[in-house]
Amino acid sequence: MANQEIKLKPFGQLEWDEKLLKKYNIAGPRYTSYPTALEFTEDYSLDDYLVCLNSLAEDKSLSLYIHVPFCQNICYYCACNKIITKHKDKAEKYVQYLIKEIELVSKELSAKTLRQIHWGGGTPTYLSMSQMKRIMDVIYANFDVPQEDSTEISIEVDPRALNIEDIKTLSEMGFNRMSMGVQDFDPKVQQSINRIQSFEMTNEMVVEARKYNFTSINLDLIYGLPLQTQETFKSTLEKVITISPDRISVFNYAHLPHRFKPQRKINSYELPSPTEKLNIFEYIIKTLQGEGYLYIGMDHFAKPDDELAIAQNNKCLHRNFQGYTTHEEYELIGVGVSSIGSINNQYHQNVRDVDSYYEALDQNKIPSWRGVGMSYDDLVRKAVIFSLICHFEVIKKDIEEKFDINFDQYFKNELEMLSVYIDDRLVELDDEGIYVTNRGRLLIRNICMTFDAYLNELQVINSFSKVI
Ligand code: SF4
Repeated sequence: MANQEIKLKPFGQLEWDEKLLKKYNIAGPRYTSYPTALEFTEDYSLDDYLVCLNSLAEDKSLSLYIHVPFCQNICYYCACNKIITKHKDKAEKYVQYLIKEIELVSKELSAKTLRQIHWGGGTPTYLSMSQMKRIMDVIYANFDVPQEDSTEISIEVDPRALNIEDIKTLSEMGFNRMSMGVQDFDPKVQQSINRIQSFEMTNEMVVEARKYNFTSINLDLIYGLPLQTQETFKSTLEKVITISPDRISVFNYAHLPHRFKPQRKINSYELPSPTEKLNIFEYIIKTLQGEGYLYIGMDHFAKPDDELAIAQNNKCLHRNFQGYTTHEEYELIGVGVSSIGSINNQYHQNVRDVDSYYEALDQNKIPSWRGVGMSYDDLVRKAVIFSLICHFEVIKKDIEEKFDINFDQYFKNELEMLSVYIDDRLVELDDEGIYVTNRGRLLIRNICMTFDAYLNELQVINSFSKVI
């Protein structure tokens, strides 16, 4: 990968325009799926899911997502589906049921080639190394996992829940990509969010991971947390740059205490003002660009020689529930509570609570909760939205050839709706396609929303976070 010639896109840089960011700062989906999870319904049954798994062609490549819901401590900003417990014995029961689910799912599939595995949570490393190894052994026994560099086996790591020597063990299990939560290195900010994690501990983990050939190491940061200022974030970012991760994700903290109970522990008067938040955001963009990171889109930055940047440059970047991915859209199977998959143009989600999860598996059933089949119109719109979000452009001919439509007729209304963005020079339009300008890239989700057939005002206000 390192020898590959890297051509930077001519529009590889962002343009900062505060007035426009304020004007378009509305809530919107992050488009890890289309339709979004709000459209999943319980009308989609286990039988639908089984038909979907059974009908998957043998030559299809698979991606597997494994959800581990446990965490040892609560981070006050958290909006994930997790279980906070110090009782590690709870994990053993979960491991046994997870193994049962993997075996059940595998029996329904004739496709067996697994090219991507992702462990997320919660905290995957809440499990002991021997528990994780048992799960990986079951995966290797039930699927073919090609031993190639391009096979991606990634894990979300909490450095507070991992011993340094475990990195070697993870590598021996086949893991080769890693994402690490940091959020902020400032001690006062860390205290206010109940997440104490030193720079030294994080740095040590990354150094060790590199020693064991983990590539594309990602660090997660959050801006908009209590007590953050541009000054405090400057010091955090300087430390992050010293670590020099291949990728950096910078998420906007959305304070929604009515929806997420842990956030009620956050003192809202300690949150940065909208102006301060904007200052922090501007500082992040300018600093990371100055350090040579490219803006991939939707909160993600990557070094030019990272797989994500190369995939974007080669127009083969994709998107799924884990965010951006370099692999073509493999059929995604989700296992574990609340996990989501995307197979044969259908989305499927497992039950959200462990008791229902155990109950279904006790009856030898896959713990299915809900889902949705994608209509023809969904597929057309998904292709347009994902092209915008991954490549900042849509080539009309590509969509016309794939779906046998006349683009201008099919999207007559949407093309008219784009005129506000064209007037603000966020988007350019010609006979061949739609192009997002450097000014428009930070507002990509607003532009995508133009093509979303499901959005209504109430949904937007209540269900999604804002751009900044
Ligand atoms: S942010 Fe991550 S580690 Fe913290 S409580 Fe939520 S899922 Fe657990």
